[in-house]
Amino acid sequence: MAGIDMRNIVKKYGDGFPAVNDVSIDVQDGEFMILVGPSGCGKSTLLRMIVGLEDITSGDMMIGDKRVNDLAPRDRNLAMVFQNYALYPHLTVYENIAFPLRLAKASDQEVDEKVRAASKTLELDEHLERKPGNLSGGQRQRVAMGRAIVREADAFLFDEPLSNLDAKLRGQMRSEIARLQKRLGITTVYVTHDQTEAMTLGDRVAVLKRGILQQLATPRELYDNPGNLFVAGFIGSPPMNFLPATVEGTSVKLPFGSVEIPADKAARAEGRGLLIAGIRPGDFEDASVVDQDTTGSTFRATVEVVEWLGNEAYAYIPFEAPPEVQSQLQELERDLDGESLRTQLVVSLDGSSTVREGDEAEIWVNTAKIHLFDPTTGENLT
Ligand code: ATP
Repeated sequence: MAGIDMRNIVKKYGDGFPAVNDVSIDVQDGEFMILVGPSGCGKSTLLRMIVGLEDITSGDMMIGDKRVNDLAPRDRNLAMVFQNYALYPHLTVYENIAFPLRLAKASDQEVDEKVRAASKTLELDEHLERKPGNLSGGQRQRVAMGRAIVREADAFLFDEPLSNLDAKLRGQMRSEIARLQKRLGITTVYVTHDQTEAMTLGDRVAVLKRGILQQLATPRELYDNPGNLFVAGFIGSPPMNFLPATVEGTSVKLPFGSVEIPADKAARAEGRGLLIAGIRPGDFEDASVVDQDTTGSTFRATVEVVEWLGNEAYAYIPFEAPPEVQSQLQELERDLDGESLRTQLVVSLDGSSTVREGDEAEIWVNTAKIHLFDPTTGENLT
């Protein structure tokens, strides 16, 4: 096994804007790395450059301590697991897994030992005589992974392997892939446009936008400390709310009133004029169910719609972003593929909340969790 170190990787198609623009990502040996971002951000191009299906315009692609820029795909010892798993329908599970060993002219004994060991790890040993057509989606995925294991590849690469599946199967397969990757401890790079997949699977996640790496961090770090507006809006569901804000002393003026924030945060944002505050739906609550000792601030607002989901409820509060931040939020909506950020506040309430549609409700906000962004650069100042 080996780590994959991408150093200042650039990919240009023709003379246009680079599809991948000076990206550096160090995937550690055994790490599960996710490349995530909206359509066209360059994630598939990056993966294809790791495998060798795409030339690298500049930068160094290192696998272990070897520079592989000029190495043919077959000499990189990586295993790509495709969306459709690329299994041979007329071959049994056994022969599908054995395929790369047969190509390499391994002895029957070696084939047998390796196929049996891999199928045991993957819990496929009872299905070795079946054909792919008679397997579940999860089993097929495991056969594809088995083929990668017997090759003793240095790393697994996945390109949106779950995007054709329905939501339930996708959830099952997600936990299956996570479990296997941990068990095998094999370096993995996984491309997706789905932030939930990224958050649940990755040891670390690289968030890309228009070819540029926005942030490389653990899922928790991305959620708690997004580096900029784009990452803040992309990670988390429902997405973070964005509101105009101005800071004076430790007080932040928001459309629904002023709240106090911790002094260290305020100091980093004061004197910068109009900012964009970011508050996750989960950092609001129905004031009547909040523990009195919890620090925060309350405000009153008219709730237009309530979606009750059992353990929580989403309340929608209409609001109009002022002209000063409209264009910034509009651009962000485009980058995030059309979420409307300018017309409503989404707050998550406890499922026991009695707030109903049309109520003027008292809403609590956890002021320590408020982020403040520079509206021009998008940088998170807090
Ligand atoms: P998607 O999720 O839609 O596949 P992606 O994030 O994987 O998107 P890429 O496929 O890597 O994005 O594409 C990145 C950019 O490079 C896009 O602007 C795309 O149009 C461009 N691009 C990709 N392949 C080529 C190509 N063969 N020739 C020219 N431009 C390309």
